[in-house]
Amino acid sequence: MKVTKITNLPVRSEGGAIYHIVKVDTDAGIYGLGEIGIMNWSKTIANAVEHLGDLVIGADPWETERLWQDMFRSGYWPADLVYCCAMSAIDIALWDIKGKSVNLPTYKLLGGPVREKVVCYPHIKGTSQQEIIDGSKKAVDEGWKFVRWGQPDAMGEFKPNRITTLEPDKSARVAVELMGAVREAVGPDIHLCFDVHTQLEVPQVVQMCRDMEEFRPYFIEDPLRSENPGSYRNLRQQVNLPIAAGEQWASKWAFREVIEEELIDYARIDLCIVGGITEAAKITHWAETHYINIVPHNPLGPVSAAVCVALCMASANVGVQEMPVRPGSVSTDLFPQQIEWEDGFAWCPDSPGLGVDIDMDAAERGALDPLQWWPPRLRREDGSITNW
Ligand SMILES: [Mg+2]
Repeated sequence: MKVTKITNLPVRSEGGAIYHIVKVDTDAGIYGLGEIGIMNWSKTIANAVEHLGDLVIGADPWETERLWQDMFRSGYWPADLVYCCAMSAIDIALWDIKGKSVNLPTYKLLGGPVREKVVCYPHIKGTSQQEIIDGSKKAVDEGWKFVRWGQPDAMGEFKPNRITTLEPDKSARVAVELMGAVREAVGPDIHLCFDVHTQLEVPQVVQMCRDMEEFRPYFIEDPLRSENPGSYRNLRQQVNLPIAAGEQWASKWAFREVIEEELIDYARIDLCIVGGITEAAKITHWAETHYINIVPHNPLGPVSAAVCVALCMASANVGVQEMPVRPGSVSTDLFPQQIEWEDGFAWCPDSPGLGVDIDMDAAERGALDPLQWWPPRLRREDGSITNW
C-alpha cells in the first residue's frame, strides 16, 4: 500500500462550523482523515501540508515512525508549530488508514482498550456569571460529570467579541467569586475545570489560586504563558492546586522540562498540534513515568475528538477528555459517522480506523479557501496587549 494523494479540506458545515480536515488517499482505495490544530493559521498550514506531501506521497502509510522523523527533520530546521500542525494531520490520517487496512479500531493498534469509555468535560459558555452558573447546572442535568469555563474579563462580565479589556486583578477576583457560585450550584461531586488561557501574570495567578483552593477545582489550566515552560517551577512552589498545561506546545521536546521536573499535574497534549498520534503516544507514556495524567486538548472538530478518545482508550494515565459539545450533535452533514457519547462519557465505535467519516459530497458543498484570521484581541486598561 502506498500514499497517492494528500488533500487539504477547509470546510464549513451546514450549521456554520468550520474545520480544516486533511485527507490522505492510498492506492488500496483506503483513505484516512486528520485535522489541523490552529485554525486561524489554516492558510499557512495548508502550504506546509502540501510541502510535506513531497515526503509522504509514494510511501507506505504503515511506516508512521519513519515518516514522522522524515517530516520533523528533513528540513534540517526542526519542525515548528506550523509544520507540527501539518505533520499532526498527516500522521493522524495515516493511523486511520492503518486501522482500516487491518479492519481494527485505531485504539487497538495502540494497545487498547484499557478503559471502555472516557470521561469528558464540556465547555460552559456564557456572557455573564449567571449564564455560566445556569449552563453548568444544565450540563450536570445532561449527565456530564465535569464542567469547564474560562477567565472572565475585566468588567465583571465575560468577553463579548473582538477587542476588549482584561484587567487582571479584577478578573481574578470575579473568577474566584464565580467558582464559588458554580461549586455551590453543582454540589461537591462535580469536577470544576478552570481555564486561565494564559491571560494573567504570576502574582495574580498565585493569589487567585490560593483564593480558589476552598472550591477544590480539578485543575487550573494554562495559568502561565507557554513560551517558557521552566516558569512553572516558580508557580509550582507558590500554588497548591493541580496545574494543567501544554495545549500550545509542539513536539515532545516542548514537554521535556515540565514532565521530567514534574512541574505540571495534567499534560494538555493537542494531538492536532503536537505531531499526531505518533508523538502524543510517546509523551503520554513518558508522562506515565512521572505520574502525570493526560487531558488532551480538543477544541476542534469530530476528527480531533475521535483521535483524542482513541488515545485515551489506549492509555492508562488519563485525567479527563475535553469535549466542547456532545459528539454526534453537530456537523452531522459533514461527518455522518462520529464517535459515541452517553452520560458524560465518550468512546470510539468498534469500526475500523478512528471511527469518524466525512461525506465528500457535503465537503464539496461546504468547501472553503484556506483561511486566516485573528482571534479576539485583549488589552490591559493602559492599552498594552494581553493574551486572548
Ligand atoms: Mg485551554
